[in-house]
Amino acid sequence: MRKVAVSTSIALLLAMLSVSAAGQTNRAYTKTEAEARKVVSKVLKASPIIDGHNDLFAWYFGCDYKKLPKCPQGVEDYPIDRVTKGQTDIPRWRKGGVGGVLLNVFGSDVFDASRESAFAYLLEKSYPNDLQVVTTTAGMRRAMRSGKIALLLTMEDSEKLKGDISKLDLLYNLGLRCMTFTYMTGPFGDGSDDEPRNNGLSENGKQLVKRMNDLGILIDMSHISPKTMSDILDLTKAPVIFSHSNARGLANVNRNVPDDVLLRLKANGGMIMLDMVADHVTNQFGRWMKEGDEIYFATKKKSPDDKAFLKHVMAEWESKNPMPRVSVADVADHFDYVKQLIGVEHIGIGGDYDGMDFPIPGLEDVSTFPNLLTELARRGWSEKELRQITGLNLLRVFGEIEKVSEGSKKTSRR
Ligand SMILES: [Zn+2]
Repeated sequence: MRKVAVSTSIALLLAMLSVSAAGQTNRAYTKTEAEARKVVSKVLKASPIIDGHNDLFAWYFGCDYKKLPKCPQGVEDYPIDRVTKGQTDIPRWRKGGVGGVLLNVFGSDVFDASRESAFAYLLEKSYPNDLQVVTTTAGMRRAMRSGKIALLLTMEDSEKLKGDISKLDLLYNLGLRCMTFTYMTGPFGDGSDDEPRNNGLSENGKQLVKRMNDLGILIDMSHISPKTMSDILDLTKAPVIFSHSNARGLANVNRNVPDDVLLRLKANGGMIMLDMVADHVTNQFGRWMKEGDEIYFATKKKSPDDKAFLKHVMAEWESKNPMPRVSVADVADHFDYVKQLIGVEHIGIGGDYDGMDFPIPGLEDVSTFPNLLTELARRGWSEKELRQITGLNLLRVFGEIEKVSEGSKKTSRR
């Protein structure tokens, strides 16, 4: 145990030294914007973006979050073959070079999640030339080759299982292939932003890791505590992902990933899909959000029914504390940082669109991914590296999970 700890910390130290020697991030440009845009359009034709996390379903099922006029809404209430009022739709997916999406199903229990999983097939039926629900890497490649956007179902927490792992099989049969291990602290382990209760992974959580490996469901470690991350990495036989998280070394918020975990992710063969959420990108924005949230919730608690007063207090606070600017370059810094720490093979892109309130200028919606790629190309990222982060890495990781699952099915058949 001690040996592992020592060698891990030496590796961490060496990696951190190499990052700081390189100045952490590389804003020196080697290409003009026009040259970089050319590279990006070539990259996206060969390897469209597979986005690690999208909350489009909030517009059909997020009753409180999106303040829907009726809830749930049908496909016809929020058509996505035209530009929507949200951050996601088919025209903007097309413009953004998106070929695949890990689409988040919401709901408070397995019944809700099943209904929303079924809804993905309704979307496919409504837009048959554009969308296809997929459950395998082969299916994903086929859908993308035929010019469709592949939808891979994910669920942003395990709380809907209410501690009952057998319910996961039902969702698997409906097409679920990825699940955030836990969003808040729950029966399977501790979340990143509330009181820990399990010292990481619970006993039941260990069984869940095994079941997800056996079924071939991607373990998503976004939103969980570093101890839970570490415990999962001790156990999992398959690579894991972070579907929408950033590097804690650059933005110290609880749900970002510490360097020591990133180094373990490299050894695991998994990947981090870096996101575009302002408070996960810079410390300054993270502090602004935290302070604003504290004032918002304290005022709401004091005067729960006085919306006008709440609005006034927040407007006053914001006039004294203007929202800090976060740029495309700030997001690209996370890509440089993680690349230098653990290598480009472990990086993807996880937009979190329709799940964020303060979009970054230049990265406002799903059509803007090329702006980020252009920034990286200008910094010297090669065509090959860009293709890895747009789609190839996710296809590799998902393929490896399928192999682990196949192996365990063979074993259990014997
Ligand atoms: Zn999230």
